[in-house]
Amino acid sequence: MYIDKEVIDKHLSSRTFRQVSEAADELGLEAYVIGGYVRDIFLRRPSKDIDIVAVGSGIELAKAVARKMGRNAHLSIFKNFGTAQVKLGDIELEFVGARKESYTRDSRKPIVEDGTLEDDQNRRDFTINALALCLNVSRYGELVDPFDGLGDMDRLTIRTPLDPDITFSDDPLRMMRAVRFATQLGFDIDPVTFEAIERNKERIDIISRERIIDELNKIILSPRPSVGFVLLDACGLLPIIFPELHALKGVETKEGIGHKDNFSHTLMVLDNLSRNTDNLWLRWSALLHDIAKPATKRFDQRLGWTFHNHNFIGEKMLPGIFRRMKLPLNEKMKYVQKMVSLHMRPIALADDEVTDSAIRRLLFDAGDDIDDLMKLCEADITSKNPEKVRKFLNNFRLVREKLTAIEEKDRVRNFQPPVSGEEIMEVFGLGPCAQVGAIKSSIKDAILDGVIPNEYDAAYQYMMKKAEAMGLKPVTK
Ligand code: ATP
Ligand code: MG
Repeated sequence: MYIDKEVIDKHLSSRTFRQVSEAADELGLEAYVIGGYVRDIFLRRPSKDIDIVAVGSGIELAKAVARKMGRNAHLSIFKNFGTAQVKLGDIELEFVGARKESYTRDSRKPIVEDGTLEDDQNRRDFTINALALCLNVSRYGELVDPFDGLGDMDRLTIRTPLDPDITFSDDPLRMMRAVRFATQLGFDIDPVTFEAIERNKERIDIISRERIIDELNKIILSPRPSVGFVLLDACGLLPIIFPELHALKGVETKEGIGHKDNFSHTLMVLDNLSRNTDNLWLRWSALLHDIAKPATKRFDQRLGWTFHNHNFIGEKMLPGIFRRMKLPLNEKMKYVQKMVSLHMRPIALADDEVTDSAIRRLLFDAGDDIDDLMKLCEADITSKNPEKVRKFLNNFRLVREKLTAIEEKDRVRNFQPPVSGEEIMEVFGLGPCAQVGAIKSSIKDAILDGVIPNEYDAAYQYMMKKAEAMGLKPVTK
């Protein structure tokens, strides 16, 4: 790769790096900016966290830098790890002493000793993440690239600096990171490195679910997340970390009838959707929308392959998946459940004649997430037949228009019934009971079906009529 001195100089000309430089020279130790920050200079990507390696004490260097930066700099020291952080405004510097790591087989926690810059570069995960720029005045901006990381950037290649079997066995999280960087950067994984992932895949079991999910989320937030899932599948990690997704793979044929491969379909939906949203949980919804297809698959003599209720079964599967994968069990999960359970509704609407009542019910059930749901459904159209695609997209456009019109007229999004359960109980002198529930839901249905307007007076009268039919009388005060 052609080294653009100007670009490096521009990055290193900041006051911050000058201060690190001075401090290092004063302490008489070598200091380098290293890792992701240097990689991103060459790849011209924005990058915030800056990692500094000192050959010597990283903590001492951090203290000296914080002193130079003055009162507003905030220094945190993590003595146990031998690291320190200096923050000034939105600048974040991480300091560590150059180290040599040796691993035992059953843990990803290494035995750490002081080392040289070379030792420190040896413990890095990939050649492109091992680049270092010297900050000492006499060598300011000098690149130290022992593993031809620059060449790998030219070749768009993810490769480990050492024998990949050692790199991955030492810290199996690096296998996830390889796939993650390949997906984020649009790089290929070098074949020798890739084969080592296949051999070491079972070792992922020593990595915590939280760390795996961090990497998976970064894959999902990449421009084309399918790249990562195809790689995870190809190297054999997918069935270990996400068996439900792996189970979507494959096509069964009976009596000459096949169904679509739900794995490739799901990835296509995810990529489609990713062009329209950065919302992580909406992207998760795409990944999970058909997750219950294997569990609900049947062959029907008349209908061929069916996946009845896969949306509702999918919704029910999510808590188990989220718990095991250490995804949040809060309103984020509820949102994904809602998307999965509703993802068939707009299609059903677009297929038939669109009634106001069906539109009101969809608005009521989706609430403020209706726009996200429509995005998911539009992404779900993966037919290869352009005629069909046009027809579906056009129908969805009509559904969207109707949604807007009905919402303006009836305001049923986030609808609360105008007569509350408490009021029903009070008027008829009832405690909480089935009758109250029945009256309440009949009012809701009447509004959603357009029998009465979404207003208090109309709802009150409707309640009186309903109650009378049930033989209830208002209590007089
Ligand atoms: P990003 O910040 O976009 O996730 P990054 O490369 O900066 O990318 P970090 O996790 O911030 O990744 O790590 C900073 C650097 O530390 C990496 O560039 C790499 O040199 C090293 N590193 C991080 N994690 C590992 C690991 N598990 N094994 C080896 N080296 C690692
Ligand atoms: Mg980083």
